[in-house]
Amino acid sequence: MPERMSCGALRASDAGTSVVLNGWVNRRRDHGGLIFVDLRDRDGVTQIVLDPGHPSFQEAEHLRNEDVLRVSGTARKRPGGTENSSLPTGEIEVGVDGLEVLNRSQVPPFQVNFDGEIDENLRLEYRYLDLRRPRMQRNIRMRHKIVKAMRDFFDARDFIEIETPMLIKSTPEGARDYLVPSRLHAGSFYALPQSPQLLKQILMISGFGRYMQIARCMRDEDLRADRQPEFTQVDVEMSFVSQDEVLETMESCIRYVWKTALDVEVPAFPRLTYDEAMTRFGVDKPDLRFGLELAHVNETFAGTEFVVFKSVIESGGAIVALRYPGGASLSRRDFDALTEEAKLFGAKGMVWIALGTDGTKSSASKFISEERIAKLRSATGSETGDAMLIFADARDIALGVAGRMRNAVGERCGLRDPKTFSFCWVLDFPYLEVDAETGKVFPAHHPFTSPGEGQWAFLKSDPLKMRAQHYDMVLNGYELGSGSIRIHKPQEQRAIFEMLGMTPEQVEERFGFFVRALEYGAPPHGGMALGIDRTVMLACGEADLREVTAFPKNQRARDLMMDAPSPVPEQLLRDLYLRSTTPEQPGSR
Ligand code: ASP
Repeated sequence: MPERMSCGALRASDAGTSVVLNGWVNRRRDHGGLIFVDLRDRDGVTQIVLDPGHPSFQEAEHLRNEDVLRVSGTARKRPGGTENSSLPTGEIEVGVDGLEVLNRSQVPPFQVNFDGEIDENLRLEYRYLDLRRPRMQRNIRMRHKIVKAMRDFFDARDFIEIETPMLIKSTPEGARDYLVPSRLHAGSFYALPQSPQLLKQILMISGFGRYMQIARCMRDEDLRADRQPEFTQVDVEMSFVSQDEVLETMESCIRYVWKTALDVEVPAFPRLTYDEAMTRFGVDKPDLRFGLELAHVNETFAGTEFVVFKSVIESGGAIVALRYPGGASLSRRDFDALTEEAKLFGAKGMVWIALGTDGTKSSASKFISEERIAKLRSATGSETGDAMLIFADARDIALGVAGRMRNAVGERCGLRDPKTFSFCWVLDFPYLEVDAETGKVFPAHHPFTSPGEGQWAFLKSDPLKMRAQHYDMVLNGYELGSGSIRIHKPQEQRAIFEMLGMTPEQVEERFGFFVRALEYGAPPHGGMALGIDRTVMLACGEADLREVTAFPKNQRARDLMMDAPSPVPEQLLRDLYLRSTTPEQPGSR
């Protein structure tokens, strides 16, 4: 019996074996009277060869890319000099005995065997073809490996996977809900979960102790490369735990996953407080693959006559300097472009100093003395050949701009290698953030987060000062996920809702069921969720979630393959007590 093998399996040592291969035509070549077909499946490509005497030779002459074949034959070594060292199967080929065309393919809108850039809309519309490409096969398999490793890890630690429903009451995670109209209850709606947050907390109240779920979440937000309307997270909750125990669990999970799926040893994660991350890196998700820490240089400019810096110092703002390795070779025009980039990040301007071998140049040379430049050099760790970029503004703005510029400089200097993985924890977040547009406060995490020890005192006096037991896991400048120790006492939960401006009636209407559950002996508990899509994206060295999601939405939240969302028959709307008032927008794909 010939052995059924995958198209990636044969090696030189298999010469002489009779095999059956199933796969797709990756490419056909007619060469020196012979027909060569590269047969592809999920594991690789094997060359099959038909000679002119073969009964199927004529049929094989008409084979096109993506036709589906079953081939039987004998593996043999390729003739000397015709090996292909870039393929694992490159030393071997299969001489065909039997050839069966199982199905024919239309000419594909793009070549599956083409590695270069393909229009993304086309890729999404013909996703089944796009997913045949080796890069997508590799990414989707890596996703499977990572999720499996996560499940194995939590299972070994006695966590129980529990499914939570998709049709729920709105539970806020700071985004807009997707709503599902109810047919049985006119005018009422389910919400799709933004996360299983309240349900996993209720599972702790139910006594399950350790919960995990590979959970689907939906948030109706504007999309970016690192955000899709629906996503998957590994969602975790534990009873009777400290913050340290949650961090240890999640960190061990990730280290296990990286070892198992990528064979990479990840060292213990450094821990930074939120304040430290902001001060040193200007962001709450620092990319630690490189140094280039921000230098706070108000002191250096004490007594300056340079009006911009002087007024920033007097108004309590910050002057922040950043090293740009090798930046002295930039032209004035390059620095102008960098200044424009800084403005996009929110800066009013930027001062640059180039430390050339032939002397120093600067956009503010009249105002910055040699002595101050020497101090800036040592504060930023700059050397001859480098440049220094300086931002002065209100502290938040100066840090924010410098932080984003630090990432941009890291990128330009090739310091952000996608194969390097630098994890860290960011801890002690402020409880509240202020919405820049409305001035309203909202929780930096969610309103079920417990304030840190000793922080309740600020609830009434100065809530913006209050710190939360909220932690983020960060990888290479991306937030992989957040978690917190939760409030488990009903009166404390009510106090937080009140601080957020909710009346008791509003609390009852939105969260009555949950506060009631807290009243029946809720244990102390805490947990976390990690975004699986982002984790896989970074593990695969990709820059877009669509590269690691089998069926993603495009930038405008459309599924181009299925053509969703799409209008539905009038009757279906009537059944749901709905009427469409907006005609479909033409060209909204
Ligand atoms: N529910 C939170 C989120 O989705 C995670 C958590 O607090 O466990 O971000």
